[in-house]
Amino acid sequence: MHTKTLKELAQCLRSGEFSSLELTQAFLNRIKKHQDLNAYITVTEELALQNAKAADARIASGNATVLTGIPIAQKDIFCTLDVKTTCGSKMLDNFTAPYNATVVEKLNQAGAVMLGKLNMDEFAMGSSNETSFYGVVKNPWNINTVPGGSSGGSAAAVAARLTVCATGTDTGGSIRQPAALCGITGLKPTYGRISRYGMIAYASSLDQGGPMTRNAEDAAILLQTMAGFDEKDSTSVDQPVPDYSAGLNAPLKGLKIGLPKEFFGSGLNSDMAATLEIAINEYKKLGAEIKEISMPNLKLAIPAYYVIAPAECSANLSRFDGVRYGYRCDNPSDLADLYTRSRGEAFGKEVKRRILMGTYALSAGYYDAYYIKAQKIRRLISDDFKNALADVDVIMGPVTPTTAFGIGEKMDDPIEMYLSDIYTIAINLAGLPAMSIPAGFIDGMPVGLQIIGNYFAEDRLLNLAHQFQQVTNWHQHSPKGFE
Ligand code: GLN
Repeated sequence: MHTKTLKELAQCLRSGEFSSLELTQAFLNRIKKHQDLNAYITVTEELALQNAKAADARIASGNATVLTGIPIAQKDIFCTLDVKTTCGSKMLDNFTAPYNATVVEKLNQAGAVMLGKLNMDEFAMGSSNETSFYGVVKNPWNINTVPGGSSGGSAAAVAARLTVCATGTDTGGSIRQPAALCGITGLKPTYGRISRYGMIAYASSLDQGGPMTRNAEDAAILLQTMAGFDEKDSTSVDQPVPDYSAGLNAPLKGLKIGLPKEFFGSGLNSDMAATLEIAINEYKKLGAEIKEISMPNLKLAIPAYYVIAPAECSANLSRFDGVRYGYRCDNPSDLADLYTRSRGEAFGKEVKRRILMGTYALSAGYYDAYYIKAQKIRRLISDDFKNALADVDVIMGPVTPTTAFGIGEKMDDPIEMYLSDIYTIAINLAGLPAMSIPAGFIDGMPVGLQIIGNYFAEDRLLNLAHQFQQVTNWHQHSPKGFE
């Protein structure tokens, strides 16, 4: 059962080939068998079985949705009523939210069956899942390598077939980069497409949730339910949600693809360049035209991001003070001691580094030099995309500079770690939608191709991804030992 796609599983549930209860049990067994991957922080076995039974009854009664009875796992950044939500941090190790995130609520309403909560970098800060309080997640393609981050648990769980689909969030690449490193399909929607209500904030002007699946067809199904206006999120955009599955088969003849020379220059390693060239050739065969473009400000994305994201995080994480919820130190001597020891004891090293950087960038005297300047760069980067997308339909590029790197390899060198998002971060600064799709292998490790579209062009991206997946089978490979 675990080898089937979401769409196939939905058909099997409908035709009665097996029940949601059987399916859910099968995934729970796999999760147990492959515990060593450390993909899950919490497995909600009892709740899942109970919900699977309810889903079976709903299917029998004839008012099911396509997601009814389908197993799903949530990144542990989404608040779940009565189920612990940790955000990968010791700070929230004891936290159970009193409400569901909108994304969780919508998926529950549709009848999806939550298997549990997925491991992630602490407060979504990281590119390797190594900053998680709950330990690193192993990449099923090679357990000595990282799965990427921050949605590393989501990517590893989908790749290892420990769930058929998962949610992720992407502030600077956290859906696309782990999707690429684990050989799955990940979509970061337009900023505002999916509600952030109940999604623990890292950098609010960049954070966006999205689907992580094995193929584009499944991503379309999941996005359909996740997307939409939410009055509880003031940055949610009130725009109709199109039928994402309807356009999957639209022909690509005449489509214009832009390749930024800044993405394919000397910085890109030759194996990666060669693999991507073959993938892009598939699009030529499908009738697309390729055009070289230039986006001169892309190189400023990392420095701008590492001012803006930490600035926002320093404000967002001020709520974790040991008073309202989360970790509290033992026997504080006074209020200042309570704040400093609670935060000092419960935040990990990377989170502290970001809070310090952000507080510094926002402090009087430095605000103009760093924060305002970074915001100006952000505008220049958005304009680069705007100009490019006036000329071409989509932009393509790498997702990551290399395939999955070794566990421990970059932990002592934060700059080196930050550079692993060099191809993804600019897209968040511009608020655009982008996908990572499986596009080949280098030495047995997956490679992702990135497709970037205009605002609210998720349907177009899914169409391009699906067409590619009709003529290639990279997305169908499964890691050895997890078939
Ligand atoms: N790796 C980037 C960071 O650490 C992006 C993380 C994310 O997208 N959540 O900030």
